[in-house]
Amino acid sequence: MSTPKFRIAICGGGVGGLTLAVALSRYPDIVVDVYEAAQSFYEVGAGIGIWPRAFKVLRKLGRDVEQQLLQRCGYEFTEEYVPGVKHRKSDQAVGIPLFELMTKGNQMRFHRADFQGVLLSHLPPSCKTHNAKRLKSYIQPFRHRSRNSPITLIFKDGSTATCDVLIGADGIKSIVRSCMMRELAECMDPVEKQSVLSCINPIWSGVTAYRTLIPAEKLRARYPDHRVFGGGITQYLGKDAFFLGYTVSLGKYINIAGFTLQPDLVDTVYEADARIPLRRAFQDFEEDAKLLLECVDRVALLGDAAHAMLPFQGAGAGLSIEDAYLLATVLGHKATTLDTVPRALAIYDKLRRPFSSDVALRSRLNGQLCAFQTDVPLHELGNTMTKNWEWAWLTELDGALEEAVKLVEDRSINIS
Ligand SMILES: Cc1cc2nc3c(=O)[nH]c(=O)nc-3n(C[C@H](O)[C@H](O)[C@H](O)COP(=O)(O)OP(=O)(O)OC[C@H]3O[C@@H](n4cnc5c(N)ncnc54)[C@H](O)[C@@H]3O)c2cc1C
Repeated sequence: MSTPKFRIAICGGGVGGLTLAVALSRYPDIVVDVYEAAQSFYEVGAGIGIWPRAFKVLRKLGRDVEQQLLQRCGYEFTEEYVPGVKHRKSDQAVGIPLFELMTKGNQMRFHRADFQGVLLSHLPPSCKTHNAKRLKSYIQPFRHRSRNSPITLIFKDGSTATCDVLIGADGIKSIVRSCMMRELAECMDPVEKQSVLSCINPIWSGVTAYRTLIPAEKLRARYPDHRVFGGGITQYLGKDAFFLGYTVSLGKYINIAGFTLQPDLVDTVYEADARIPLRRAFQDFEEDAKLLLECVDRVALLGDAAHAMLPFQGAGAGLSIEDAYLLATVLGHKATTLDTVPRALAIYDKLRRPFSSDVALRSRLNGQLCAFQTDVPLHELGNTMTKNWEWAWLTELDGALEEAVKLVEDRSINIS
């Protein structure tokens, strides 16, 4: 390989980090290292659903990636209108069907380990992965030496590494983000400083998410006709709590994601004691819903505190895929050199941040609709939810990609 134009370190080998690594493989003049805290890339046992908008981005990673993802899904991708998520009113002894969300294109559902496995198998030789490397902090020397001196990464095990560009894909409790905020605060006046530092500690959304996989056989042995085996996604809705279930890994597992929304705790500091236990939250739900929860052995708790993105539109992973692809496009572009990396990152920020913020608001509203916390009457729920969600199948990333390339190529355009 010729001399690389720069070396990128990706901190975090989750959905976004691995997508970025594969997307960057189109640019052989960039060397990539992925540093992952976990011992293995396959530790999180959960399902993720990818809506058409993000699936079309994954397709851009190559025919082979797409084929392997389809094999893991066990069904084809379609762009036709299809029934998507079945919604039931379930906070009563006998549940009632409310509406079925129609989506243009189907949601592609994966076991997260299967999904990451496909991405890992497509990493090029120019990308190295490092497990058990938990980043503790980084030192960016631009204030002390030349702006292009390498960034030093410091890991929890005491080891260090260097890179030219560092991408924080380290999830909800991002260390890169908190170091970045501290760094930013250093050069601010006391009032601004306080406001930036206050962003470091997460504020709780009042939402508790429970997420687990159960072996399908376990449920089948007891309830062979359970609704969840009928395909698609079922959302069991109720006052202040709801959950959804669907099969992944060719029907081998059932992914369950449950949520409680405590409006009185919005914007408080997260306290584990304040959350409502899973079984109590759903104790008055219809039988069909409770049968699913009976099969849950161990419930993983995710206090979705730091992330502005509530998971009520199943969009967080999809958005990180979009982020990764656009970021790879601006960094990999031949006009981007080590000197112009800041501009490339500013373009990425300009094009992605408003979009993600908008989806975050939509996702929050979806949760409130599902938990009957709005004034929307039941007969209008379907229509309101569809309108709020259709960005995920009616719009595409392509416009932003074109805009990004234009901004990279024409440096006379101001990015602010
Ligand atoms: C219950 C629930 C259901 C969801 N369902 C969906 C869905 O159906 N569809 C969807 O699109 N989204 C869904 N999401 C959201 C989705 O899981 C996240 O938005 C997505 O995983 C974010 O990707 P990421 O790459 O930013 O972070 P992650 O996928 O969380 O990856 C972060 C990685 O960084 C590593 N890491 C952390 N700290 C460090 C460190 N200091 N050093 C090195 N490595 C580090 C972690 O080990 C991890 O591997 C759901 C979320 C919840 C809570």
